[in-house]
Amino acid sequence: MKEEILGVQVNTENYDQLIPMLFRNIDDKKKSLVVAINPEKLMKAKEDPELKALLNRAEFQIPDGIGVIIASKLIKGNITSRVTGVDMMDRIVREAARTQKSIFLYGAKPGVADKAAKQLIATYPDLIVAGTQDGYEQDTSKVIETINQAQPEILFVAMGSPKQEQWIEQHRDNLYPTLYQGVGGSFDVLAGNVKRAPAAFQRFGAEWLYRLLKEPSRLKRQMNLPKFLFEVFTRK
Ligand code: UDP
Repeated sequence: MKEEILGVQVNTENYDQLIPMLFRNIDDKKKSLVVAINPEKLMKAKEDPELKALLNRAEFQIPDGIGVIIASKLIKGNITSRVTGVDMMDRIVREAARTQKSIFLYGAKPGVADKAAKQLIATYPDLIVAGTQDGYEQDTSKVIETINQAQPEILFVAMGSPKQEQWIEQHRDNLYPTLYQGVGGSFDVLAGNVKRAPAAFQRFGAEWLYRLLKEPSRLKRQMNLPKFLFEVFTRK
């Protein structure tokens, strides 16, 4: 099920409900794209019809960020728990290892996707990584060829949003994989280049607070959250 927040469709399901939906599409050879939705993207999409349409065309929009949950509460919606991009990726990878579906990591600086792949294999020894490719190769047809030769069922693209979603949408008809997820900075997190907030902060959905404490200059960016909630509230 989906519900609309500031004109963008967002899935209401949790991880356990989404995984079978995603993998059924793989088995049915139905291509699908997973995009992470957060307040920042929703505010951008409000001003940018092109971006809004792009987000709405994705088959799955996951509620990343506590702001989306609060927004859903404000409009008396049904989204009760976060589905973060990096955790969704982890769940997909786990299920891919279990069902022997191969994955491909495309994006981030040279070496990062390889390191991320090693980390994933350490966690899920049965995982099949069909290949990796850094996100700075300018020759798109070369990238497409590399991915298609590897024949992965699942492609993770980590080039920042909305660049990664635009890339996927533009090329998916010519690509082998059936399941696509844009994962932003997740390869950097997996490779250990960027640290996630401690578990306690994650549990309370307060990663924003951790980041703010570490980087006070983020305050200006984070002031967008109240603005976002006000928009949602006055729209209903
Ligand atoms: N990146 C890339 N190619 C590019 C631009 C960026 O592969 O042309 C990578 C960059 O190295 C980083 C990621 O995309 O790993 C961007 O992560 P960011 O955290 O900015 O994305 P967000 O999660 O904020 O969308």
